[in-house]
Amino acid sequence: MTFPERLEIPETVLELARTLEQAGHEAWCVGGAIRDRLLGVPGGDVDLATSAKPEEVQRLFRRTVPVGIRFGTVAVLDRAGAPHEVTTFRHDVETDGRHAVVRYGASLEEDLARRDFTINAIAYHPLRHEWRDPFGGAADLSANLIRAVGDPAQRFREDYLRILRALRFAARLGFVVDPATWAAARTEAPGLAGLSAERVRDEWFKGLRTAAEPERLVSLWREVGAAAVWLPELAERALPGAGGAGEGRDPVLLTVALTGPQAPAVLRRLRASNAEIARAEAIVRGPAAPASFDETTVRRWLAAVGPAAADHVALHRVEHGGEPAWAAAARRIVARGDATSRSTLAVNGADLITLGIAPGPALGALLDRLLERVLDDPSLNQRDRLLSLARELA
Ligand code: ATP
Ligand code: MG
Repeated sequence: MTFPERLEIPETVLELARTLEQAGHEAWCVGGAIRDRLLGVPGGDVDLATSAKPEEVQRLFRRTVPVGIRFGTVAVLDRAGAPHEVTTFRHDVETDGRHAVVRYGASLEEDLARRDFTINAIAYHPLRHEWRDPFGGAADLSANLIRAVGDPAQRFREDYLRILRALRFAARLGFVVDPATWAAARTEAPGLAGLSAERVRDEWFKGLRTAAEPERLVSLWREVGAAAVWLPELAERALPGAGGAGEGRDPVLLTVALTGPQAPAVLRRLRASNAEIARAEAIVRGPAAPASFDETTVRRWLAAVGPAAADHVALHRVEHGGEPAWAAAARRIVARGDATSRSTLAVNGADLITLGIAPGPALGALLDRLLERVLDDPSLNQRDRLLSLARELA
């Protein structure tokens, strides 16, 4: 790959670069955005690397947020309030596989050398339109290769997350992991056990969201030995309805599709949020589908699964690539506003108390019996009809 004459860099980023350079510092565009632009794929924000120390960056700009100050990253807010990451050239002086102690005062070349893969270690000067690519990142972009910068085993031992990042980039870009990097990743994979669950989860979710095909990410996790450490439940399953990469992908749902009944335990291990774990529990609890497709059965099923109904439909779509046969009936029921829960009945507990029914478990049971009747016959869901029915049943 030959570098283009110049890259289109947003004016806001150019302004940051000018301010840094006019104050006597270097400012280079680095990281994923440069990689993605060279590939011509949609990518994220352009990060800047600079010789300015974090305190100097904070002094030079009016509005800054110390988003990763321990690693030298300051977010500079532009006029519109949008953040742009500016990271001080650094090298890692001490690493233990999960954290790094960083030192500033590094050169651009040293900063590029501490980066994970050659394709992520290319720098572009946005004002002088110069390129720096000391590790052959452009050639690897052309060859569709993920290759570690430097000795791969050593780089993985410094930060085991890099193994998972290699898999994510390979699955997202449709690249192959270079044989030496792959061999080291397999050898070092047991070290993944020392990572924090949060970092692994973020990587797993991001990988599922961005993979061209989630199945490829699953194969890579299994083949490299990452699944054995963190996700032994992970099964090779076709996901014909996973959809295209992007925000539409739902990593919790995909994790359920890929780990089945073990999904709640998997998400707990990955320290997912309580809401995400509860979602997986509700999906796994089922029943996944109504026993037949007539509206009464579908209504009863909607009442049984409650808010998980939409997840059941979505999971079916992911696993089978199309709508389940009962989705149309479920949609009709929801659109019509048929009651499928106590709270959507035309009467509530207070109404029953005015009928002289004592508050307590019997009142709850009566509401459930009313719901039973309404599930069979939605036309009963009117206040006066339910009140007279309640009198009969009480
Ligand atoms: P994306 O934003 O699409 O995930 P990215 O390459 O921009 O991809 P970031 O996590 O945003 O990834 O990191 C920005 C850059 O910082 C990377 O391109 C890489 O150069 C470097 N980097 C990030 N994480 C690591 C790491 N664990 N080890 C070494 N370098 C890293
Ligand atoms: Mg990025």
